[in-house]
Amino acid sequence: MKMHIFLCIVLLVINACIVASITLKNDKAPVYENCTNPGQFVLTFDDGPNPRTTSIALKTLKEHNIKATFFINAVNYGNLEEDSRSIEMVKTIFEEGHDIGSHTYYHEDLFTAIQKGTMEINIDNMTDIIDNIIGVKPTFFRPPGGYGGYKEIEPEKIEMTEKIQKYLGSHGYNIIMWNTNTKDWSYKDDVDKVIENLNIQLKAPDVSPKTHSFIALLHDVHPTTVNNILPAVIEYVKDLGYKFVSLSECIEVSPYQGINFENKNDESSKLKNMENSTIPSINTNSSFSIQDNNSGSFSFISNIYNLNIIYYFIFIYLLLSIFLNIYKKKYFT
Ligand SMILES: [Zn+2]
Repeated sequence: MKMHIFLCIVLLVINACIVASITLKNDKAPVYENCTNPGQFVLTFDDGPNPRTTSIALKTLKEHNIKATFFINAVNYGNLEEDSRSIEMVKTIFEEGHDIGSHTYYHEDLFTAIQKGTMEINIDNMTDIIDNIIGVKPTFFRPPGGYGGYKEIEPEKIEMTEKIQKYLGSHGYNIIMWNTNTKDWSYKDDVDKVIENLNIQLKAPDVSPKTHSFIALLHDVHPTTVNNILPAVIEYVKDLGYKFVSLSECIEVSPYQGINFENKNDESSKLKNMENSTIPSINTNSSFSIQDNNSGSFSFISNIYNLNIIYYFIFIYLLLSIFLNIYKKKYFT
């Protein structure tokens, strides 16, 4: 009997440790930099909306029937606090079926924001303003400059990255990085230079739509990007044989909190709920690895879940034995 109680306590402690480790593991926002399936290509635009240029990008995307993702700021090129055209632009992006993600409120890099104590407000206020405009909270987040998504080496930056990823994870976010950079902000009018730069990544010897997928970084706030670079990139990517997909289709995660993801191309696939979106993807098809610190954790989590179920069964068995013993003593002695 004493042994039973002792074993019960031991199992409870082990169980608490397992639950704590699962909670800690799930806390961190997963980092994505490519798609689940090869052959897919995603266009992402940062720093908007810019009423003068974003509409041109939307027109081109509509002509090619492409769904893109816009990582927006509240105050940057546009102003979601007081400019009705900026607000309308966000509504239009959403209504035309593109995904909307957060790029922070003021486009402040999060390392600086941590030091100033403004990280939380930059993230939370952006979530709220998106929710106010389109009625849903986003699950996609791109940190300004990529800080918080890179695999850092310096201890101080590793610590800040952990802090950012944990905060974003606990607020329903996935961190979206990229594995091809058009450098549109730098090359401006020089479309040839953009294609030359893409060639280095997309025409590398071991790279093809059979094995690779890409999330591309662009900025819809520059006239040169929306007028010249975007149309050229679309033609270039199509010629290589990639299929344009939305970011949600690419990583198989719903773009909005509280809304289930459904894979439109796979009727037999089950619905993925938001809990699943906190389980990181295991990226195997990219040669431009920015971050792989989440790889393999899915099998680890499922293993300890299974282990936990076994512990529960033993625990219930022991508990029943104890009650049976008490019952016997009370009525049969
Ligand atoms: Zn940016």
